[in-house]
Amino acid sequence: MQQIHDLLHRALNLEWLTPEEGVFLFENAATADLLFVGNQLRRHHVPGNVVTWIIDRNSNTTNVCIANCKFCNFYRRPGHNEAYITTIEEYKQKIEETFAYGGEQLLLQGGHHPDLGLQFYADLFRQLKALYPNLKLHALGPPEIAHISKLEGMSHYDVLKTLQEAGLDSLPGAGAEILDDRVRRLISKGKCGGEEWLHVMRAAHQLHLTTSATMMFGHIETNLERMEHFAALRQVQSEKPTDAKGFLAFIPWPFQDEDTILKKIKRARNAVTGDEYARMIAMSRIMLPNVVNIQASWLTVGKQVAQVCLHAGANDFGSIMIEENVVSAAGARFRFTADGIQRAIREAGFEPRLRNQQYEFRELPEGMLQQQLDREAMLVD
Ligand code: SF4
Repeated sequence: MQQIHDLLHRALNLEWLTPEEGVFLFENAATADLLFVGNQLRRHHVPGNVVTWIIDRNSNTTNVCIANCKFCNFYRRPGHNEAYITTIEEYKQKIEETFAYGGEQLLLQGGHHPDLGLQFYADLFRQLKALYPNLKLHALGPPEIAHISKLEGMSHYDVLKTLQEAGLDSLPGAGAEILDDRVRRLISKGKCGGEEWLHVMRAAHQLHLTTSATMMFGHIETNLERMEHFAALRQVQSEKPTDAKGFLAFIPWPFQDEDTILKKIKRARNAVTGDEYARMIAMSRIMLPNVVNIQASWLTVGKQVAQVCLHAGANDFGSIMIEENVVSAAGARFRFTADGIQRAIREAGFEPRLRNQQYEFRELPEGMLQQQLDREAMLVD
């Protein structure tokens, strides 16, 4: 069909397709054509045959949250007998384990605790950096920054600046879900709206904090809302200072439905097939011509689908994740060891390279406790 051909051709020229054009392509183009174009764009942005991966630990500051997202099984209401705030002693143990496994960063997130304000997080970051100066903190996310700003009556910029001065190295793109307020009202009403999420990221880019962007899809959103999500992200990326990295990566993953209120009340099911996920990876490349790295979420789609995605536009396999509690609580079951993730990348025809959060290559750390890691993180594929 001529229209599909023209749109794919324009995508290959890095033109910005409108959300409606994106929907048309997504709904009508053959999978082989979409994946071919996604892969060509990957080769434009990231030439060569390397696929990167990272070792990190996803830990949580607290599971106390007042946002009540309908897809979340992780949080506990204030006062619940399973509510916790992670202590410094617990962080020490987690960080030392992470270092022993060859990791160098904590991906640190948590709930919207009603009593934990800016001082708490700034003190925490300062303490962790004083104890471990080489530790990288990839921490919080726009909804938590919005929550802290509201508690403190401060701007996003000032909250981020204080946290950056206390040791925040980069800001994860968590809590984006779908950046449309119709969807957000239905699934995560207690969280910041789409515009505020984008505003936090604009402020982070002004501070030269590197960030990532995400999308959790396959629940109650329309295809147009997915494409509008892409359009909003590329707009914010285009506004960053020219010497800031902005969104270093985009990571889409399908909604995990197990035991979630969203499944029970809204009857939303995780119905995203491997084919649809690979098509969304290709659409990520097509709709985000100003984002360099696209990550396939093996944690939620498994090894084989993630491997296909490396031929659809993805150039990163994400983390082996020594600890992960949020999507796992909603049914994500896959695990990789350091060996397993590299083997999976090679099987797909690529050369694995360990990276840091800035997407710079790292050598495999000497003395990495490979056997221990192999024992503790079981490969399921
Ligand atoms: S996803 Fe985050 S903000 Fe939403 S309820 Fe869970 S912990 Fe709270």
